[in-house]
Amino acid sequence: MTATIIDGTALAAESRKETAERVTAFTRAYGWAPGLATVLIGDDPASEVYVRRKRKAAAEAGLEDFHHHLPADASHPQVAALIGELAEDPRVSGILLQLPLPAGLDRYALVDLIPVEKDVDGLTTASQGLLARGLPGLRPCTPSGVIRMLDSAGVRLDGAEAVVIGRSELVGHPAAELLLRRGATVTIAHSRTRALAEVTRRAEVLIAAAGIPGLVTAEHVRPGAAVIDVGIHRTDSGLTGDVRFAEVSRTAGWITPVPGGVGPMTIAMLLANTITAAENAAYAAIR
Ligand code: NAD
Repeated sequence: MTATIIDGTALAAESRKETAERVTAFTRAYGWAPGLATVLIGDDPASEVYVRRKRKAAAEAGLEDFHHHLPADASHPQVAALIGELAEDPRVSGILLQLPLPAGLDRYALVDLIPVEKDVDGLTTASQGLLARGLPGLRPCTPSGVIRMLDSAGVRLDGAEAVVIGRSELVGHPAAELLLRRGATVTIAHSRTRALAEVTRRAEVLIAAAGIPGLVTAEHVRPGAAVIDVGIHRTDSGLTGDVRFAEVSRTAGWITPVPGGVGPMTIAMLLANTITAAENAAYAAIR
């Protein structure tokens, strides 16, 4: 069997086009463009690259750019004051605090200062609570992108056996919640899971988000499964994922590449969340 490749780059382009159309309609209707505020603290080179990409994509979608770069020694009150200002600013529809934060800053306390309706990363306690309860809210970008990719490929989730490798707040856990909400029978595997391959071989839908290059081999994959590779690793020969693409694509039914898979979808979902946040705020103001 040769797996069908789910093309994240093409799907992300489609989603970004839809978002740009919604931004245009919003701007025409209300006379101002919704804004995305990005807050970067310190000089982590990877974070700088991510934020630059997000801002560029946001600008291409027609969103206003509110970027703030604070030094690595910024204090909690300084960051809190900035988030407070952005929370109050009606031109800012979404706020993104780029993680990880420099040592000494409490990421949970700071993320939770973002109002739930502007939480375009879906990482506040309030957003995660809405997700756990299955109530409407902004969902974390990477897991939303994963679901969108599965849907685009026509992979059936209702009643499917799904295994998520990884239980992080950013990816694994919310991905499992979203799959659960779609009717999948979900197992979360993690660093303490024994006999990983035995667990993952049950999966009709396998999400790899362990952050370990090449962890998932053909031996881990049920023939015909949909395999979504969330991992991103920089190597001398370029980017690679958690899944050994060449061998797994001979067993899987669908597979996502790295690069060109989940990565571009994450940015597309951030933009979609930002226009959704702007639309929600505008409707709330009218009601
Ligand atoms: P994390 O380190 O917070 O979590 C990793 C999870 O994997 C943990 O829950 C851990 O228990 C589990 N794990 C570790 N070793 C394991 C093993 N041997 N077997 C099974 N489970 C194991 O990482 P994260 O933030 O969730 O990110 C995971 C990966 O996804 C990373 O490579 C990261 O770079 C990537 N990522 C990609 C995107 C994207 O847009 N494509 C976004 C976020 C993260």
